[in-house]
Amino acid sequence: MAALDRSALAERYHTVKASLPPHVTLVAVSKTRTVAEIQALYDLGHRAFGENYPQELREKQPLLPADIEWHFIGHLQRSNVKYIAPFAHLVHGVDGVKLMDELDKRAGQHQRVQDVLLQVHIAQEETKHGFTPEEVGALLERPWRWGNLRLRGLMGMATNTSNEQLVQAEFEGLGELFRRSKPHAGAAFDTLSMGMSGDAPLAIAAGSNLVRIGTAIFGERH
Ligand SMILES: *Cc1c(COP(=O)(O)O)cnc(C)c1O
Repeated sequence: MAALDRSALAERYHTVKASLPPHVTLVAVSKTRTVAEIQALYDLGHRAFGENYPQELREKQPLLPADIEWHFIGHLQRSNVKYIAPFAHLVHGVDGVKLMDELDKRAGQHQRVQDVLLQVHIAQEETKHGFTPEEVGALLERPWRWGNLRLRGLMGMATNTSNEQLVQAEFEGLGELFRRSKPHAGAAFDTLSMGMSGDAPLAIAAGSNLVRIGTAIFGERH
C-alpha cells in the first residue's frame, strides 16, 4: 500500500469542508480505509466518520480515539446490531420495524438511547433499501413504540446515474417528505442525510443538512 500522503488528505478535506454551507454536517465515509487513514483525518480535527460494515467497524473502533462519532450508514442486518449497539452515534440505514425492534432491545441492554434515521427508498434501483414515503407517513401516524430509539430524521440515496435531473427529482422528493414529516415526528427530528461525493451539491440544494462523503476526502476506494 502506498504511504499515507497527509498533505494530500488535508488538502482534499479542506476543499470539501470549504464547499459545504455551515449548517451541513460532514460525515467522512471511512469504509475500507485503514486505521492510519482515519487517524490522520482525526488529527486534522475531524470527528464524524461513517462505516458500512458492522464487522469492519467493530474491528476498527477500539483502535481509534473514543470521542469519534461513528455513523452507521450501511445496510444493517438484525443479527449484526449487537456489534454496533454499544457505541453507534447515529444509525442511518433503518429500513424496517423488525430492525427497529432489535435496535431498541440492544440499546436498552446498553442503557443507551440510540439515535436513528429512517432510510427512504427514493432511487430507481431495486438494490437500494428503505421504507417507501407512504410507509414513513404511516409509521409516524402511529404512536412511537420504541422507547430506546430517538428518531432524528430521514436518509436516502439517489439513483447512481449521470442523469442530474433524475437525482435532483429524487432528492427533492425526499426533502419534501422530510418537511412534511417534521410536524408529526418528535422534537429531535432535525437531520436529513442525503448526498455523497458525486451528488452533494444537488442534495444540499434540496434540503440536506448532512452529507456522507468518502471518495472526495480519502481518494478512490481500492
Ligand atoms: C460509500 C457510501 C457513501 C460515500 O460514497 P462516496 O462516493 O465515496 O462519497 C455515502 N453513503 C453511503 C450509504 C455509502 O455506502
